[in-house]
Amino acid sequence: MTLLDGRKVSNDIKNEIAAHVQQMKERGEKVPHLAAVLVGDDGASLTYVGSKVKACERVGFESTLIRLPNTTTESELLDKIRELNEDDAIDGFIVQLPLPKQIDEQKVLMAVDPRKDVDGFHPENFGKIALDMEGFIPATPFGILQLLERFQVETKGKHTLVIGRSHIVGRPMSILMSQKRKAGNSTVTIAHSHTENLAEFTKKADIIIAALGIPEFLTEAMVKEGVVVIDVGITRVPDASHPKGYVIKGDVDFENVSKKASFITPVPGGVGPMTIAMLLQNTLLARKQRMGH
Ligand code: NAD
Repeated sequence: MTLLDGRKVSNDIKNEIAAHVQQMKERGEKVPHLAAVLVGDDGASLTYVGSKVKACERVGFESTLIRLPNTTTESELLDKIRELNEDDAIDGFIVQLPLPKQIDEQKVLMAVDPRKDVDGFHPENFGKIALDMEGFIPATPFGILQLLERFQVETKGKHTLVIGRSHIVGRPMSILMSQKRKAGNSTVTIAHSHTENLAEFTKKADIIIAALGIPEFLTEAMVKEGVVVIDVGITRVPDASHPKGYVIKGDVDFENVSKKASFITPVPGGVGPMTIAMLLQNTLLARKQRMGH
């Protein structure tokens, strides 16, 4: 079994990006600048945004964190987005999800300038990616592709099962894995909450990408020998014995599934760190595009 060590690969990618930024500095060019908008004070969101800002510092990017109160109205947030769209200093920005109930998420994502949409959530980028055109690939699917590529996992002609059809992970992942690309050329099945007899699909799959958000959902009995498993799930499970009061669980029963797997991602330390690295990669790309490269 080979561990798909996202921490290591994401560090390699960050080092590559840092070297690139160093060259930009030496040439007297402006370095990439990522802004993150966080509405409210959700604990998990705060952690994610904090890691993204820290990652910017690590590679030499500039970063700006914009914190807005939980009571922010939709039009106030849209005004902030307009400001960021027009701000020449900002190369890319993200609006951390989920948003408070009074704000329509779709409206917000539509308002982001696609050229600064480094999360790859705008329909223009989604459409471009689906049509094999250049655009921003959403960071989590992009990270999974990088893991598969860098560990040279064979995907061509394999049966890939994606569990979950969310707009940010499952849906784009299913499209990407079917495309003509290095980590691609797979025969893809996408499963969701209405899939019947899921175990029949999981047992046949060569590659399983689990993105449903149910801790330890995928068990040893559900997979075949030699399966490749990508665990996207991140759930905080209450645990009084832990200093933080919770532990992070993936969607896969790692301890037992890893006995059968040929490749598997750990949680934490698998897809999570890759997501952040690819957000940086997209921001670098946004900067280069703005420079006309
Ligand atoms: P979501 O909650 O938007 O969607 C979950 C999907 O799972 C739905 O499409 C639903 O149909 C499907 N589903 C639910 N129950 C199912 C079942 N019993 N069988 C089959 N399918 C079922 O999910 P999301 O935003 O894609 O997130 C999924 C998980 O990934 C969450 O734990 C989230 O925290 C995590 N996540 C991790 C990263 C990362 O960087 N590692 C990034 C994004 C999301």
